[in-house]
Amino acid sequence: MQRPTTFADANATFEDGEFVIVGVPFDRTTSFRPGARFGPDSIRMHSWNFESYDLETAVDLSDVAIHDLGNTEEFGSAADMVRSLREEMRPIYAAGKVPIVLGGDHACSPPSVEAYPESAPSLGVIYLDAHMDFRASYLGEPRSHACSSRRILEKVGARNIVVLGVRSVSREEIDDNKGIGMSYVTAHEIARDGIAAAVQKAFNMLKTERIYISLDIDAIDPAYASGTGTPEPFGLTPRDVKYVIDQAAPRLAGLDIMEVSPHYDNGNTSVLAARLAREAIVRYVAAHKGR
Ligand code: MN
Ligand code: MN
Repeated sequence: MQRPTTFADANATFEDGEFVIVGVPFDRTTSFRPGARFGPDSIRMHSWNFESYDLETAVDLSDVAIHDLGNTEEFGSAADMVRSLREEMRPIYAAGKVPIVLGGDHACSPPSVEAYPESAPSLGVIYLDAHMDFRASYLGEPRSHACSSRRILEKVGARNIVVLGVRSVSREEIDDNKGIGMSYVTAHEIARDGIAAAVQKAFNMLKTERIYISLDIDAIDPAYASGTGTPEPFGLTPRDVKYVIDQAAPRLAGLDIMEVSPHYDNGNTSVLAARLAREAIVRYVAAHKGR
């Protein structure tokens, strides 16, 4: 299959684009199986799988102004990635556009959030992940993907981030959080009580005008999304994550989809990631129709 250069239906210029796709082929902080650097292009390629028309919202993606900025450079260090990605993201937010960031490992999320302007409407974060990602530092790297929820919390505050789908955590992270109080709903609670209850809990907490969704694809069960670096059983279903996106999309400030490592499956994980990105776009557009 020939590799398309853009995300499907991303035909708009940067100036005209309401949504901006950004690929970050960076996976230098992965701790188990590397390969998420190949995520952005694989998600783009598989995005061509779908009809442009969305059955549920009647939105046609070919009528939506989407720009694909392409990939960032392949950074040598996490510090370089953080600095440069923040600079790439700033003009997107400043122009009032909604970024869709395709990773890359989860280290790419904090700079995407940190670039959100202080002067913009208040920002909350829904962080979907099998892992807590709450270490102060990991293997000497505070910008590791194992530290990303903590770095985001330091930006938005403990009341403005909720983690959904967690089922893997160290004792140290649990102890650290006792003094910090980040909210989370485990995958086991979601299996027991349903995803709607988890989203209700998140919305009760996030009083912010806008919501940024950070999706570590390993939040979803490896039965559906095995193409990832640190797969963890007993995960969310694709439909759970679709529900979160559908509910939050009207307030969407940005979305990232991280940790897709395409060489560990036959393409299903990239198809799912592309479909969820498209879901966020059509739901946002449907909610803002008639602006
Ligand atoms: Mn993560
Ligand atoms: Mn994870």
